[in-house]
Formats: sequence, C-alpha cells, structure tokens
Amino acid sequence: MTHFSRRGAAALAVVLLAAPGTGAQTTNAPSDQVRTVVGRLELERFKAHVKGLTEFGDRMVGTQRNRDAIDWLDRQLRSFGYSNIQRHRFMSANGPLENVYATKVGTVTPGEMYIVSAHMDGRGDGEAADDDASGCAVVLELARVLGMPDVRTNRSVRFIFWNNEEFGMDGSGTYALERSRLQGTAAEPTWLGIIQHDMMMFDHGMPPGPRQSPNADINIEYQESSRMAAGSAILAAALQAANRSLADYPATIGTNMAGTDSIQFQDLAPSVSVRENERITGIIRGSNPNHHQATDAYNSYGDEDFRFGFSAVRTTLGALGQLAGVSLAMPTSP
Ligand SMILES: [Zn+2]
Repeated sequence: MTHFSRRGAAALAVVLLAAPGTGAQTTNAPSDQVRTVVGRLELERFKAHVKGLTEFGDRMVGTQRNRDAIDWLDRQLRSFGYSNIQRHRFMSANGPLENVYATKVGTVTPGEMYIVSAHMDGRGDGEAADDDASGCAVVLELARVLGMPDVRTNRSVRFIFWNNEEFGMDGSGTYALERSRLQGTAAEPTWLGIIQHDMMMFDHGMPPGPRQSPNADINIEYQESSRMAAGSAILAAALQAANRSLADYPATIGTNMAGTDSIQFQDLAPSVSVRENERITGIIRGSNPNHHQATDAYNSYGDEDFRFGFSAVRTTLGALGQLAGVSLAMPTSP
C-alpha cells in the first residue's frame, strides 16, 4: 500500500485517541449522552422519511420528480433547523444536476468532518423505496436528531444526498474530484470518513424468501484494495462496535465495497458503505427481487423490514457519537 493508507489510518487513529473520555475507543460502550441522543431516533419518523421520498416516484435523473425530490429534501433539512443548506451543481452526461447537503458544524474542530450520505435518485418506474429512499431516510433521521438545539458535535458532520448514483455515480464522483483538493481550506472541511447508506431494509436470505431472514444482518463494507483500506477498516470497526451496543440486528464487516457512491472516496478518505446485503455476494445476485423494479414501493416492505432499516440509523449515530464527539448542552440553571 502507498503512504496514503498509512496516513489515513494514522489520521483516524489520532481522531479516536483524541476523543475525550473514550478510553479504548471503538470497543468502549457508548456514553450516557450518546445513548440519550440515539434514544431520540424514532422508527415512525424513519418510516415517514421513506414515505415522503417515495411520493416522488422513482426520482429518475432528468425528471421533474427528481428535481422536486431535491427541493423536498432541502425543506426537510430546513425544518430540522439547518440554515446552511447548499446545492452542489454538476454536469452529468444527461445535463445539469444537483446534490443537496447540510452541515452540522462542529464546536471544537469545525474544519474536520464526517460525511454521511445516500443517493436520492432512483429508477425502475416504481418508488425506489429501498433503493434508495431507505438510505436517504437514514440520513434524514440522523440530521433531524443531530440538528436538535441542545445537541453538540466536536467535529462537523455533513449530510449529503447524492444525485445520479444510478447512471454514472457522478454526483459523488464530481464532488470527490472537485472538493478533494480543497480540503482543509475554508471551502471544504477535511474528510475524516465517509459513511454511505444504500438499500437498508431487505434481508430475506439467499435466495430471498417472503419473510425476513432469521440471520438478517447489516453489512458494513470497505474496499481492501483501496488506498485508504487501513483507515476504512478502523471506521468499519467503529460502526460495528456501536452496532453491538445499540442496535437490534447484528452487523457484519466485509472487504469488497462496490457499486455505491462511497467508492468515489475510497482512495481519498476512510470510506464505508452500510447496507442490507453485500453488493457482490448478495445484491447483484438478486437478494432483493424489488431492486430496480416497479415493486420497489413503500408498501412492499413490512414492519420487520423497517425495523431492520432503523437499526442502521442507530448504528451510524452510535458510531458518530464517538467519532464526531456528540454531547448534550447542559441546561442553564435559572
Ligand atoms: Zn442504490
């Protein structure tokens, strides 16, 4: 591996070591404050975020449905208290498109940030509910809770909704290309890690059955052949540790992250994807029969599927709790 991987691992290790009161870091139980903040996540809100985005159909790039969904995401972020919502405009093969994002600004080191992301576009003439309204719902619910007025983070967290994952992955690709060299300037905080969420709700086994698998697990993947493999492995381990303490479903780590926006960052910063199944061993072999079909609709998923997806929200927030340093402001005495 090149010097990049060692630098990436070292940078993340420094962050973990620098987190006050986290002791052995990734293996430690979450603090009471992190547990309190995770406790504010709501399954019904998560479901409502999925429902809200599926109202725009499949959100195919180039359609009004896609543009309207971007505006809707913008309004949701605004309703959570964010005033720094931005559009990242880029030129895709099919014309101009936008990503949309908001940032929770860190109170100690605002120039360092984690990116949590999902892709807002979809395909298949249905509702693109699992792929990827479910991932967007994870990001929205994280943004909602971290946006609460008494919640602080030491480091910044950016919530990004990528456009055009499905036909070129160029929302994330253009962002990574344009912003990488700006890191550490006023224009772009330094990337400590990227956590992508893409297809979160359906683990019915292989071959998939009508009901959730008794072995349903969240799959956290990084790319072992990438420059940032070492740092990415540490990031994956932080997510798995949080998952053990805070989630109803277990998490498994894999080393072949593929087919989602986080691969655009894998040589630049610690990068992982969080999803219902591994891309290579599951999704492209048909683990979700609704994938890219008109049946990828809100009503195709049951209570167990939504609870499974919600487990990923708790996992990612638990990890961010340690990595970004989440705390609650003390109530002021009268
Ligand atoms: Zn997807």
